[in-house]
This record gives sequence, structure tokens and C-alpha cells, in this order.
Amino acid sequence: MGEPVRSVHAAPLEALLAELAVDPGAGLTDDEARERLARSGPNALPEQRRASLLAIFLRQLRSPLIYLLLAAAGLAFALGERSDAAVILAVVALNAVIGAVQEGRAERSLESLRRLSALTARAVRGGREVILEARWLVPGDVVLFSAGDAVAADARLIDAAALEVAEAALTGESVPVPKRPGAVAPDTPLADRANMVWSGTHATAGRGRALVVATGASTEVGKIAALTAAGEEPQTTLERRIAQLGRHVIAAGVVMCGVVVALGALRGLPLVAISMIAVSQLVSLIPEGLPVAATVALALGVRRMAGRRAIVRRLAAVETLGSLSVICSDKTGTLTRNEMTVTALYLPGDRRVDVEGSGYEPSGRLAERGREVDAGADADVRELLLAGALCNDAELVPPDADDPRWRAIGDPTEASLLALAEKAGLDVHAARERHPRQGEIPFDAAARMMATQHAGGAAPRVLLKGAPEAVLELCSGVRRGGRVEPLGDREAREVRGAWEDMAGRALRVLAVAAAEGAAIEPQRGYAPLRGRVHLLGLVGQLDPPRPEVRGAVLTAWEAGVRPVMVTGDHKATGLAVARALAIARDGDTAVDGRELDALDDEQLAARLERISVFARVHPEQKLRIVEAFQARGDVVAMTGDGVNDAPALARADVGVAMGVTGTEVAKGASKIVLTDDNFATLVDAVAEGRHVHRNLKRLILYLGSSSIAEVVALISALVVGLPVPLVAVQILWVNLVTSGLVTVPLIMGPPEGDEMRSAPVPRGEPLLSSQVLRRMAFIVPAIAASTLGYFAYRLSLGVPLVQARTEAFTVLVVSQWFNVLNCRSGRASGLSLDLLRSRWLVAGLAVGNALHAAVIFAPPLNAVFHTVPLPIEEVVSIAAVGSLVLWVEEIRKALVRRRERRASPSRRGRRGADHPAGSRHASR
Ligand code: ADP
Ligand code: MG
Repeated sequence: MGEPVRSVHAAPLEALLAELAVDPGAGLTDDEARERLARSGPNALPEQRRASLLAIFLRQLRSPLIYLLLAAAGLAFALGERSDAAVILAVVALNAVIGAVQEGRAERSLESLRRLSALTARAVRGGREVILEARWLVPGDVVLFSAGDAVAADARLIDAAALEVAEAALTGESVPVPKRPGAVAPDTPLADRANMVWSGTHATAGRGRALVVATGASTEVGKIAALTAAGEEPQTTLERRIAQLGRHVIAAGVVMCGVVVALGALRGLPLVAISMIAVSQLVSLIPEGLPVAATVALALGVRRMAGRRAIVRRLAAVETLGSLSVICSDKTGTLTRNEMTVTALYLPGDRRVDVEGSGYEPSGRLAERGREVDAGADADVRELLLAGALCNDAELVPPDADDPRWRAIGDPTEASLLALAEKAGLDVHAARERHPRQGEIPFDAAARMMATQHAGGAAPRVLLKGAPEAVLELCSGVRRGGRVEPLGDREAREVRGAWEDMAGRALRVLAVAAAEGAAIEPQRGYAPLRGRVHLLGLVGQLDPPRPEVRGAVLTAWEAGVRPVMVTGDHKATGLAVARALAIARDGDTAVDGRELDALDDEQLAARLERISVFARVHPEQKLRIVEAFQARGDVVAMTGDGVNDAPALARADVGVAMGVTGTEVAKGASKIVLTDDNFATLVDAVAEGRHVHRNLKRLILYLGSSSIAEVVALISALVVGLPVPLVAVQILWVNLVTSGLVTVPLIMGPPEGDEMRSAPVPRGEPLLSSQVLRRMAFIVPAIAASTLGYFAYRLSLGVPLVQARTEAFTVLVVSQWFNVLNCRSGRASGLSLDLLRSRWLVAGLAVGNALHAAVIFAPPLNAVFHTVPLPIEEVVSIAAVGSLVLWVEEIRKALVRRRERRASPSRRGRRGADHPAGSRHASR
């Protein structure tokens, strides 16, 4: 294996295979692949190298704030205040350490996030088909892909069947291009090389097998990526908003600085000292830890969601989840289990047959009006069941050591038909052998039916099954009593009645039909069959709801998040399931794809509020549904699994792909992947998203209220003619060290459990939301008053200034600790919430206490921090005064709780009520 061939598209395939030394049937051996990986490197675009802890540490120092502090330290040093200079330097260093630890943590979380959403590929290795992470592909690998799969490396086709590939990402060509093997001319432009597939594109139809010729940075996308910057996670709105807040705070801080210096000058205070104080206060005001804290909060949310089976592919999704107001969900497999059991049959002549049994176990009776049906003697029933079993690609697996239940391989819809036939005593295997398949039109979601052609009778025969409206369109007759009779109005009405009856019972209905002496012409689709088909009967299948979904739906309603069903199934079936799951409220309606097309945007908007089921929709229509909700201002999640779902998934505020049934393309277009395909998991993720928002608000409230309180105390002191209560190094110490210790614990706080009992977080809500500002209005005066009041009181008693300052300094520190307790919840008491669950917070407070004790009681530190040891009894009264801020908040919270109790005396009771819609409580 030397240099790769220059024009791999023009070389004969055999030459390439020889050059890459691989047998296309067996692929590479694991050993060979490992060896090549060492040479070629992983199949990934070059990532930014992970920053070392030292680099992260140094990065903390590269900020204008730090320069300001260093300048202040230099000034202090020049004026002979050596210890002040040293303290400033120490504080800067300590702050950088705390920042670096936090940021290192955020980086690690982000890295595991990238790993969670890794792309997979199918390859042939050592003669076996394996699924592996795309990063381990090497030149010479034989890869397989089919509709919905992403192409993970540049590869030359070995063989292909009806393969089409969407190359928009690479060439900008929006229509999928057909691909076929066979060399092309050397000068063929990239976009026309039909024998090549490129990394970064995906298959939309057919399947193919190809030989990997380039990986990682050597691929065509890799070359483009090298030109642009390495793919980094785009900034989230949250990060943008934090940056904006930072700029506003700096502006406000500079003004504050000017005011402090001016007031100091007016009062005739020494200019250098007052400038140092002003600069320290400015530095303290700026929430420099906030951006990292926000990333940590989001990353922690990602981790918690992964623990709850929701893989987040984009960090921003965590934030958006908290604001979701509509969830559009698939039915089959997401709301239901996708485990089909046939429970009812209809045969022309108004025969209705009930089927017993559950799951795929082929045991249970067939009974018509209470009397057992004998398929051996009843030719109509036998024909219906055999057709269902022949026009079928599934298999049933009997119980074994691994699983004590019967299992389905393939489409559950089809497997249930096999179980049905076996229940009636028919031998499916024998039938499949007697009537071998000669041709087929595979199922597709647009036609909603499938057809197979079989030999073994007098003449070839076509069998069909699918959505009743699709099959009935082709039918001209019905089979009844062994004869084909014309399908007249009366028969059509009867069929429709039986169908509606089944659908109304939440059954999924399939029509089964046959055409004698007909043949399938693959090119012409269903057209040649029209009018030659007769209906054998209808099959009604039960797909039980997932047990946890109803609870999740009720939770969603209570949380102000509206669930909407989007299904390929029939309207009546969809609505019946939606009713059973409380998705549809009284008076809600279902709209099907055809009706949807007939509505213009305005009409759709007018009806949207009452539509809870979109039925028989094509994937393309999902996009319109998303946009209709967005036009109303909703924040929309949409689930999907197929290639055609990708545009709707990409357009939705949160696209959600199915982890089990989803294609790679759907996953690639989504922000979230549900590893269990479960609606309830998505609702859990919403709760996590809200939890993240709450934690951020806690932190912002804490940082904002604490530092504004200091400014208020400082400026008030200057205005009323008191000495400044804290000196510069004390201000720095409080903000950069004491409060730095609790920011991470606040951001990691546990959920309060009532996240889903309030309305969604309004999108675009400012970080300083009205609720945060309202709470600050209580907290800021309380801290400022206790600090400054105690300072003034002590001075009035004739306590020396250094001691009064030490005491004010301590009151401030203590009140910040009490304020952390405040900020943990908007309504629950700061003391009652089980504080011990927040181990990090307890640890942070303990370390803070110890550090502050050292600053007050250790003589060497007394000198640098301008403090004096305080008598123990003073410490007690200081703690009492510092707790003022806690009591103020406790009273406010008690009032809030009382008002809530008055407003909704039985909140708990209502949760069980049928449709707790509209119970949107104010966000907190
Ligand atoms: P959903 O997943 O939303 O329930 P699908 O798109 O899977 O809907 O199916 C739509 C309709 O197509 C079904 O209601 C059924 O009538 C028909 N259908 C589904 N699977 C098959 C199949 N294997 N063979 C024939 N028809 C099918
Ligand atoms: Mg489906």
C-alpha cells in the first residue's frame, strides 16, 4: 500500500483493490485495520488540540480585568504598599486557579458530549459485517450503506442498487444524484463522478458497497474544512446573552468607578486609596466566571440527560428544551410500543372476527359472534390470512434462553400477521414454499402499501396490503363465499363502516387484497393493477401505548407544553390513541394530510389550537406543521426517524431523532437523539432543560445581588460621610475567593421537583429577568443595610476603625453565605430544603468559613488584609446581623407560598384531572 492512486475515480476497480490490498468480500482483518489506523490516523477532521491545564490557567490571566488588577498591584507597590500588592497578586492567582478548574471541567464534559454523538458506519471486517465508530475507518475498508445512512469516508463504489446520494453538503447540488460503479474519465469533475461517494454526504435511496480510499483530513470535505476554521460548537444564545450582559456590567461599572472617585475627591479622601477601592469594586462587579459557569451548567444538563436516555448533540438544545411549548411526536414506537397484535378481522359479507391472544405468541382463538372459526374449512378466512402472511417480510422467533417471549424480526406490523395465521393453524413456512415470490413493490410511506407476486397457483397472483384507502382505490371487487363479487356502493359502505369501527377502537387497520393472473411491472408501480384487485378483508391491530406515556403527557400539559401527534396512520386511529393518552382534549380534532394541503396558512393558523392529531401526513408536511407552530411563537420539538424527516427535524427548534429506528441522516439533522425512542424520555429532557435554566438564574441572582449590595454600601458610605467600610483587598477577597467557592455548587444544584409545574421559560427572556430583579430588590437593601448599619453603629460606639472594618467585612461575608441559601430556591425556604443533598455547596461554605477565619484570626494575614482578631462574642452578633438577608427572603418566600396555596388549594388533586391544560403558573 503506497501513495493512494491519484485519480481513484478513473482507475479500474481491480487495480484499486490490489493497491489497497483488500478482498472486497472479506474486507480487512482487524489486525490489518489496526495497523493502517496507526498510519492513516483516525477518520475525523483534525480537532483543536485539547488545551492543557496550564494553558487554561494562563488563559484566565488574559483579560482586561486582570490587567487592571495588575496595574493596581503595580501602583500599590510603587507607593510602598507591598503587602497590598502581594495580596492583589495572590487573589488574581487564586481566582485564576478556581477559573481554570471550572473551565477544565467544562472542556471535559464537552468532550464526552462529542463522543456521545459519534457517527457510526457499517463495514466488512474479517468476512463479517460490523458496525463501528466512523472514526476507525481506514483506507481499504469495505463499507456498506443504504438509504438513510451517512457516508463516512470518501469511497469508490464496488456495487450499488438504485443508489442515490444527497451531496448538497459538498457540491451544493440539492437533488440527490444517482450513483453506479464503473470507472469514469480522469477529467470528470467531482460532482459528476458517479462511481464515488463522499464523506459528509448521505444515501437517500437504494444501497451500496464501496471501497474506502480516503479518510479524515484527506477526504474532500476534510480539504474544505482545512480551509475554514475547525468545526467548533457554535455559540449558544445563552453564551451570547451572557457576553452582552458582561458588556453592560462593564459600562455600569465604569460609571460606578467614576462616581466613587468623584465622591471620594469631594470628601477629600486620599485619591490613590479611593481609586484602588473603585477599581477593586469594578473588578468585583464583573461576573467573569459566568460564561464558564453557563457552559458547565449546560454540559451538566447534557450529562444528566444522557443518564435519562436522551443524547444531546448540540449544547444549545439544552437551553431550548427549557423553552419548549409544543412537542410534535410520532405515534408508532414513540407513544406506543410498536408491538402489534391483530385483535379483529373484517371479511366482506359483514363478517367480524375477534382474535384472542397477546404479543406475537401464535396462540389464541378466532371467533365470529362467539363461535370458533375454522380456517381449514373457511376458505375466505384462509385466503385473507395467507395473503397477509405471504405479502410479508417478517419472521417470528420462538422463545429461547435469552427471551421467554415470542419475538418479531422485521416490521412488527407484518410479524403480527404471521402470528395471526399461525393462530388459525396455517403453516406459514409451507405456504411460503408453495407460493414462492416472483416480484414485489416494497412498502413505502408515500404509497402506504406493498405488493408481492407469487407463483404456485393456476396463474401468477399479486397480493397487496396497506392503508385501506390506498388499497381500496385499486379494488373493483370483494371476495365473498369463495367468489369475487363487484365492489358496489353498498359493499363500499359496509367496508368503511367496519374500518371506522376498528379505527375508533384505536386499532391500526390494514386492507388485504389480491389480483388473480396479474403481474408486477416494477417500472409502472400500481397503475397496471387498478381495477383488477379484489378485497379479501381488513385486519385490525392493537399497538398498546407505552405505559409511561400517559403520565408524561399529563406532566407536559401541566408544564404548559402541548403534545401533538403526527402520524402516518389513519385519522380515526390516531385520534382514538390520542384520546386514550390525554393528548387530545375534548373538542380537539384530527386533520389528515389531504385536509392539511387544502388549508392555506391562515386557515391552518386559525385551527391549530384545536388540532391535536395530524394523520396520514407525509414527511414533507411535517415541515409545514413545524413552521405553522413557530409562526404562532411556539418553540417546537419534532420527532422523526426517516431521511425525509430531516428537513423538519432541522427546522424545528429541537429536532429529535429516534435512536433505535432512526436513520443516520435523521440523527444528523437532530439536536437530540432518544436512545429508547420514548416520548416520556423527551418530557424528562424538558425537565432537565428547565433545571439548567433555574440553576443559571440562581447563580445570576447570587452574583448580581451580592456585588450590587457592595456598591450600594460603598456609595452610601461616601454620601453620608462615613469612612469607606471595606478596603480594596477586602473587596477583592470577598468577590474573587469567598463567592467564587459557591458559584459551581449553585450551578450544580439538584432539581427542586416543581420544574414541570410552571410555564416554559420564555424564549429570549433576559438573564436579569423581572423575577430576578424583583428578588434583588429585597436582597440588595438587606445586605447593604446590615453591612453599613453595623459599621456605623460600631463606629458610633467608639470602636477603632480597623476593628469596625473587620466587622463590616465579616458581616458582608456572612450575609453572602446566607444569600447563597436564599438563591437556591425562589419559593422553598433556604433552610428547609435538604441542604445536605448539595454536598458541594456545604463543602464550599465550609472552606469559605475556614478561609475567612484565617483572615481574621491569623496574625500574618491580619497585616495583609488590614484586619484585627475579633472577640468571639462579637462574631456571634455579627452572624446574627449578617443573617438579616436570609430572614427578609424567608418572609417573602412564606408570603409567596401562602399566595400559591390560596390560588390553587388542591394543586396535587388537579394533576390527576383529565386535561390540566391551561394551568400555566408563573415561571419562577
Ligand atoms: P406510523 O409510523 O405513523 O404509524 P407509518 O408511516 O409507519 O405510520 O404507516 C402508515 C400506514 O401505512 C399505516 O397506517 C398502514 O396502513 C400502512 N403500513 C404500515 N406498515 C405497512 C406494511 N408493512 N405493509 C403495508 N402497509 C403498511
Ligand atoms: Mg412508522
